[in-house]
Amino acid sequence: MAKETATKKSKETKSQTKQFEADVGRLLDIVANALYSNRDVFLRELISNAADACDRLRYETVKNPELVSSSPDYQIRITTDKDKNTLTIADNGIGMSHDELVENLGTIAKSGTRALMEQLKSQNSDKDSLNLIGQFGVGFYASFMVANKVTVTSRKAGEKDAWIWESDGRTGYTLSKASDKSSSLPHGTVITCHLKEDAREYIEHAKLQNIITQWSDHIDLPVFLGEERDDETPANTAKALWTRTKSDISDEDYAHFYQQVSNGLSMDTPALTLHWRAEGIIEYTGLLFVPSARPWDLYDPSRKNALKLYVKRVFITDQCENLVFPWLRFLRGVIDTQDLSLNISREMLQTNPVVTKIRNGIATKTLKELQTLAEKDNDKYMAFWNEFGPVLKEGLYDARDYTQDLLKLCYFYSTHDTEKQTTLADYVSRMKEGQKKIYFISGENLQTLRNSPQIEGLVSRGIEVLLFKDTIDDFWIPTVQQYEGFEFTSVTKGQIDLSEIEGDETKTDKNAKAKDKKKEADTSSLDPLLAQLKTILKEDVEDVRLSSRLTDSPVCLVASDTGVDIHMERVLKIHQHYTPESKRVLEINPDHALVKALSGQSDNKAIINDAAYLLLDQARIALGEQVPDPNAFARRLTTFMSKGLAA
Ligand code: ADP
Ligand code: MG
Repeated sequence: MAKETATKKSKETKSQTKQFEADVGRLLDIVANALYSNRDVFLRELISNAADACDRLRYETVKNPELVSSSPDYQIRITTDKDKNTLTIADNGIGMSHDELVENLGTIAKSGTRALMEQLKSQNSDKDSLNLIGQFGVGFYASFMVANKVTVTSRKAGEKDAWIWESDGRTGYTLSKASDKSSSLPHGTVITCHLKEDAREYIEHAKLQNIITQWSDHIDLPVFLGEERDDETPANTAKALWTRTKSDISDEDYAHFYQQVSNGLSMDTPALTLHWRAEGIIEYTGLLFVPSARPWDLYDPSRKNALKLYVKRVFITDQCENLVFPWLRFLRGVIDTQDLSLNISREMLQTNPVVTKIRNGIATKTLKELQTLAEKDNDKYMAFWNEFGPVLKEGLYDARDYTQDLLKLCYFYSTHDTEKQTTLADYVSRMKEGQKKIYFISGENLQTLRNSPQIEGLVSRGIEVLLFKDTIDDFWIPTVQQYEGFEFTSVTKGQIDLSEIEGDETKTDKNAKAKDKKKEADTSSLDPLLAQLKTILKEDVEDVRLSSRLTDSPVCLVASDTGVDIHMERVLKIHQHYTPESKRVLEINPDHALVKALSGQSDNKAIINDAAYLLLDQARIALGEQVPDPNAFARRLTTFMSKGLAA
């Protein structure tokens, strides 16, 4: 209670002095000392804020027409004063209230700037920090790169009082109520930069014109340079880029627009630019970009998209979750439609059927263009795939309608080639006669996967195995199940029957099948050893059996037919604290010298006992897992090595 009165009172006193949040302080320190090679961007930031403010008021007035007296000509005006050495950016947008000034300019509340700060914290030198500012943009605070004092006068639309915020960009700022005279504007914000000695170039209109052309040409409202005149023309094109015909738009125009719609957070050149007009039951224009580098928040658990939704050129929101599938959330750009009401509330948008149709249209268009890219410029596509493949594959898991199109876009590492990834179509074209399944193994590390004992038998028969290295792969497999009728089959789970496949071995050796038969008969001599191992390891594994998937290694572990696959189980353990219920199966290579030798020792209980645990631990290590009792492992290994050396 007491506190409330205090704030109320202080709001009314003439001027308050406040400290910046710690983070702001640190950021301003870096900004102020920046001999930043591209200080020009401060103007882009201020213009983009002004344009946002106009967009927001335009949107608010749809519901609240009384906020403005008559429909204002939204505009931004930039003026300079040579004597005072100031540069002023004024807009007639929504403005900021007292509390909004405190919140927006006194703290780091905005996602982009916050992301930058997180990165800065992990950075050692200030030199690296400066690079980061270039990458992220620092929003409003960029003004302190060129100014040693910034004055912000703002009146929120619909409010009586205007407020003056002022700071030297060091420790804090002052906030005071503007006298009625000093704020003649009905609503909006005026930002005055008191330029630093070394930033006088920003007085020159030619310089400012250059920056506007470079950065802010496609802002959807006029930016005027200089005092108001009757016959003035804007310093920018002032027409929404997406409404112009494609042939009139240069690559450079698109590139700048891309920077603009990603709020200056993307410094890459887009891998694809999609600009189209959908005509039919629902009409809309899309200008979308597929980035070439991952946006910083790609793996944020919210899986939010950042597309901007416009209705009849009025900005509505950039938080319409239903507008883009989460697995296309890397798209940047604008959708503008005639077919929604300007009055639609942001909540209603989430379930609106028009939005759903547009969402599907975006997906179809994007997948089609990606397919074309994969065919026409595969190197470029692969660069995209390596950045965004795991996200796109989320679609296999949650969008059944797009499974077929998505599968065509998927590339995987495989045992066929050590460098190049393969499509599923190419995998199928290389399948052996009689092969009915697509074999895969999943894990985190390609090298470990390539050396896995579980794939030895397949590889030695010339059968290709896909190497799944993305966590998402374990999740879409159970949903998708098959490609063109060939079932995806994990080589680390269940039994594998290779008898019907005509492997390379069979081609070179006509008697191989007969030989296989003979082998089968031979293995009965291993029965006593198998029985012993089963008894010793009965607490640790579900079964011990002979394997057809091994050639060089003596043992491997696989999941049982009904159990959770090995890598999946590991993923679940990490992400959902899952404790496994199902035991695995230990498979033994009947042709391995060690196994044969052990079989001859079956009377020696001590040796068989140690060997059983050593084999199991070895199989665990081959999976990249830890052995549960490292000391016992070491003791047994020492015993065995000593015996081997003594013999
Ligand atoms: P961002 O634009 O990414 O949100 P900024 O640092 O550029 O971050 O701006 C911080 C906030 O200050 C904006 O989100 C907005 O709420 C407010 N703001 C800045 N400039 C203006 C302006 N000219 N009119 C109204 N609000 C503004
Ligand atoms: Mg901004």
